[in-house]
Amino acid sequence: MEQELKTIYEAQLIDSTIIEKEKRLKLTPKLISELDAELQDTKNRVEKEREVIQELEKERRKKEKELDAEKEKIKKLEAKLYEVKTNKEYQAMLKEIETAKVENDKTEEEILILMEKIEELKKDYEEQAKRLKAREIEIEKTKKELKKELESIEGVLEELKKQRDNLLGIVSSDLRSIYKTLIEKRGGVAVVNLKNGVCLGCNMNIPPQLFIEATKNRELILCPSCNRIFYFKEEE
Ligand SMILES: [Zn+2]
Repeated sequence: MEQELKTIYEAQLIDSTIIEKEKRLKLTPKLISELDAELQDTKNRVEKEREVIQELEKERRKKEKELDAEKEKIKKLEAKLYEVKTNKEYQAMLKEIETAKVENDKTEEEILILMEKIEELKKDYEEQAKRLKAREIEIEKTKKELKKELESIEGVLEELKKQRDNLLGIVSSDLRSIYKTLIEKRGGVAVVNLKNGVCLGCNMNIPPQLFIEATKNRELILCPSCNRIFYFKEEE
């Protein structure tokens, strides 16, 4: 019996690995699409910032053009100043020049503010773009690893199932059938260890005499609470 218990315990170890790998198999495609979504989000954000900078540049160029035209206009007015015939006309023209100059000062100030803003955004953009590039490389690497793992996992699972079935083929049909029922009904855990008078499958106390018997691994003993098969192993 002791050998049979050890064999069924080993089958359990394999089944636990199988369950873990099957979870991974299901989770990996989700992980990959999450990474893709994260990268796309970051790309969109960086692209948006680039667009904002372009818009501001466009505005700056427009204002500079306007300013140049206004300055040209003032120059022409100033040249004409000496051609006017009446004082009234002269005063009117002076006023026009004055107003245009005040307007230009304002435009110049606006251009300056725009330039500062653009400078600031460009610095931030470059920082973000650098980070994006690094993250992109990181994500590509992770995705490659995940895909590689996915590709091999099917083969590994097949091999593990074969090993498990071999072990289950050795034990008595009664034990095999108890094991299979428990695997199905007890969340994939049919064989459990025990420690300090407690079943490590359900954490319930085991009667002292039963506990002592179970630690000997000499006969098939099921947990009185969860019905799982006991297999005692010191180091766990
Ligand atoms: Zn139990």
